[in-house]
Amino acid sequence: MLSNIRIVLVETSHPGNIGGVARAMKNMALSQLYLVTPKIFPSADATARAAGADELLSKAVVCESLAEAVRDCTVVFGASARSRTISWPEVEPRACTHILRTLASDTSVAIVFGRENSGLKNHELDLCHYLLRIPCNAAFSSLNLAAAVQVVGYELFLAFGEQAPVNIGDAGADPLATVEQMDSFYTHLHETIADIGFLHPDKSKSIMRRLRRIFNRIHLDSKELDILRGILRFSQNHNK
Ligand code: SAH
Repeated sequence: MLSNIRIVLVETSHPGNIGGVARAMKNMALSQLYLVTPKIFPSADATARAAGADELLSKAVVCESLAEAVRDCTVVFGASARSRTISWPEVEPRACTHILRTLASDTSVAIVFGRENSGLKNHELDLCHYLLRIPCNAAFSSLNLAAAVQVVGYELFLAFGEQAPVNIGDAGADPLATVEQMDSFYTHLHETIADIGFLHPDKSKSIMRRLRRIFNRIHLDSKELDILRGILRFSQNHNK
């Protein structure tokens, strides 16, 4: 499982933090580092802070967008110190390991960490199934980026590092839908509900965000997604 877990850093400003994250990851036997438009990378500061974990830096995958970084993942967690007005389902790191064990033991999954100064934006959390919150002092809740990766990595290591993963879920034979497949489903859904006159253009953003919440909560597999796409095609043809 640890080898399927991708740590994604979005627009990190300080290269030292990228190195600190690589070190924390290697301590916890995590190896997949993805960087979305880092401000400065590669960098001597990152290598110095990695302190021996520099092979993670040389293998790091640099992406142009978060969508690209999580495209083929089945479950995505967005780590955030803040709650949002729209409530994403919130989990703590330990609950995150239970979800991974149950749903995604042999697929790629991502844990996304935000910018040092402003965290993750709502449109980035739209790509996430869960908001991951590290419990801490409510009056001082923002951890350093590498410290946040360390805490989450520690829980992952306790859960998956020493024993073979046990699948206690009832996941079927069909793989879970990827972020990319879900995204094209949302585009199709948006087109269809606009075609049938359900969607008021002014409300479309918040309705689509709520619809995403619903579908993200149930973790569709690819066959279930095909059925929904079929229904959308049928209703579009019917409406012509
Ligand atoms: N000032 C930013 C926090 C930046 S800390 C804000 O207001 O959102 C950098 C990143 O570390 C965050 O985006 C988040 O991914 C992670 N992080 C820091 N503290 C965290 C916490 N308590 N729980 C979960 N993630 C946290």
